[in-house]
Amino acid sequence: MTFSLAIVGRPNVGKSTLFNRLVGKRLALVDDQPGVTRDLREGEGKLGDLRFTVIDTAGLEDATDDSLPGRMRRLTERGVDMADICLFLIDARAGVTPTDEILAEILRKRAKHVILAANKAEGSAAEAGVLEAYGLGLGEPLRLSAEHGEGMPDLYGILQPLADQF
Ligand code: GDP
Ligand code: MG
Repeated sequence: MTFSLAIVGRPNVGKSTLFNRLVGKRLALVDDQPGVTRDLREGEGKLGDLRFTVIDTAGLEDATDDSLPGRMRRLTERGVDMADICLFLIDARAGVTPTDEILAEILRKRAKHVILAANKAEGSAAEAGVLEAYGLGLGEPLRLSAEHGEGMPDLYGILQPLADQF
């Protein structure tokens, strides 16, 4: 029994950092075909005794402004549709942006299950952003620091009971 987890969020919130932390070196072969497939990275995730497929909805790191181009929306929707569970990252240091709101709306409509996480939550600079995240209407935000590995036991605590459903 296993499940797939899509890491969703606007550029620069820390998706790939979290992906790398969960996947380590167990990266699936990257599809080199031109087109949209190369923009979704898939790997074998490991967290404690859990094993699952992780999908990084990457490929838009060139989008630096806070906007949601059609390509980013389509890519996100594809990752969401593929996944049993979506881990929606916001940047706790930046707070909730208009693009976060749009992504939250997509997730509310399409995702089978959403886990909201406020990343970059290490230190006091993240407090305001964590509080803002409650306003997305996706429940209590999980505090994560993908870079420093903080919050991983809490992520495990949320995923472990869900994993039994798959
Ligand atoms: P992506 O565009 O969503 O895939 O984001 P990346 O994983 O490429 O990370 C964007 C930037 O945020 C990089 O400079 C990371 O080092 C940084 N970053 C990622 N996670 C954290 C974190 O937990 N804390 C802090 N302070 N920075 C982070
Ligand atoms: Mg990335």
